[in-house]
Amino acid sequence: MGMGVAGSYLMARLKDSEHEVVGYERNVEEKHDSICAWGTIKPVLREFCKKTGRNFDDFLIHDGKNMHVKMNDDVKFDIGLKGLCTYDKLALIKDFIKDSKIIYGQAPKLEELEKEYDMIVDCTGFNRVYLPKLKEDFSCQHTNTK
Ligand SMILES: Cc1cc2nc3c(=O)[nH]c(=O)nc-3n(C[C@H](O)[C@H](O)[C@H](O)COP(=O)(O)OP(=O)(O)OC[C@H]3O[C@@H](n4cnc5c(N)ncnc54)[C@H](O)[C@@H]3O)c2cc1C
Repeated sequence: MGMGVAGSYLMARLKDSEHEVVGYERNVEEKHDSICAWGTIKPVLREFCKKTGRNFDDFLIHDGKNMHVKMNDDVKFDIGLKGLCTYDKLALIKDFIKDSKIIYGQAPKLEELEKEYDMIVDCTGFNRVYLPKLKEDFSCQHTNTK
């Protein structure tokens, strides 16, 4: 569920598996987008792409070497970058799913999905539509543990 970078990567990994996999994206295909600044860590994405038989360099937009910072008080400095780059995230997502069965423009309810599928993977991002919400005091319990 959800054809963002996580869901689409999973589709690519499962493409030639023994499982029948169907991807759902709530947006219609023409409006399928990727909300993000498209900045990433090159070595990490390279490895993920390699696992799907892709070359990350095909999606690279800018391979950063220096970040130039200009502060409000006109102080300027450079920070050397190691692996920070921008990439065409939407193109990669679309490539990950290009040969898979994707149902666009639908966001079925959990009960409907449970009737049809053995396993449902929630890749709906920040709003986590299908997984149970974490309890509000979850982080407090952890930080307060002595
Ligand atoms: C303004 C902004 C800038 C960012 N910049 C960066 C950056 O430069 N670099 C970086 O690494 N991260 C960046 N992020 C974070 C990054 O966008 C997320 O970490 C990443 O997109 C999460 O990927 P995902 O696949 O888990 O979820 P998402 O990218 O959120 O994808 C979820 C997909 O699920 C679909 N969906 C949702 N609900 C349903 C449903 N019920 N049924 C079917 N489909 C559904 C959505 O339409 C979407 O396509 C940025 C985030 C924002 C908001």
